[in-house]
Amino acid sequence: MTSRRQFIKLSGAAVLVPLINIPVASAAEKVAADNATAVALKYTGDATNATRTDKMGTVAAMQFCNNCHFYTADAAVSGYGACTLFQNALVAELGWCTGWTPPM
Ligand code: SF4
Repeated sequence: MTSRRQFIKLSGAAVLVPLINIPVASAAEKVAADNATAVALKYTGDATNATRTDKMGTVAAMQFCNNCHFYTADAAVSGYGACTLFQNALVAELGWCTGWTPPM
């Protein structure tokens, strides 16, 4: 028979195990072209190569990672910044993907 104390210990372990396995990109890791999310979102490191359309009041030609809501510049890696859609992996500041959203 499981005591209340044993049950609480086992329950806690069961909750923590899935959290430990969440893959989180390191801050210095750049998004690879073959990354499944990058492919799905049509990410490119050069926005001028993308087929962009006007979105949320911003003309297509003005949409870049560095003016996207999900982008945070990385002072340690020139020309790149962290993107929350890619679990904070680095994307090119002049890149783009279909997830582009204007700053809020
Ligand atoms: S979500 Fe924004 S910052 Fe992230 S890759 Fe797409 S356009 Fe760039």
